[in-house]
Amino acid sequence: MSTNAIYPGTFDPITYGHINILEKASRLFDKVILSVAAYTDKETLFSLEERYELCSASVKHLSNVEVYTFEGLAVDFARSQNCSVMIRGLRAVSDFEYELSLALTNTTLNPEIETVFLVPSLRYMYLSSSITRQLAELGSELKDFVPPVVAKALRDKFKKE
Ligand code: ADP
Repeated sequence: MSTNAIYPGTFDPITYGHINILEKASRLFDKVILSVAAYTDKETLFSLEERYELCSASVKHLSNVEVYTFEGLAVDFARSQNCSVMIRGLRAVSDFEYELSLALTNTTLNPEIETVFLVPSLRYMYLSSSITRQLAELGSELKDFVPPVVAKALRDKFKKE
């Protein structure tokens, strides 16, 4: 039996930290669905369509990773895609409290879907979408943080505004 996993998130935008987690997950599971959430409690820099396009362009090298957008609950989307595992990334201690409450809530909503935490390689431990957005706004070099296609999209965003 194959085990499929979803990796849900906002991906505003996708960074090398997310890609690092995806590379690890793609070695562990038969199929990984990078799932870009329509719902978010924060205002996003990129639209859902833009976030989806940047994710798709950034994971082409991973043959068992597919990219979808979804509305509503991640556990419902996982079930609709026959995924029994939900992957989340754990960085510093600061992620822990939020990720734990999310995992416990999701287990209550659907006990059949297991959350699996993956730790990124050390160099991505402090990388986040929000830091990347701030660096882009300040005109920083972005090559260590995001793929070239994402760096271009970030530069274009702040050029226009
Ligand atoms: P969300 O808004 O749902 O937290 P994100 O797109 O910010 O979505 O992140 C999705 C998942 O990826 C989260 O579990 C987050 O902790 C994880 N993540 C983000 N950046 C990194 C990173 N640099 N290393 C490891 N995991 C990460």
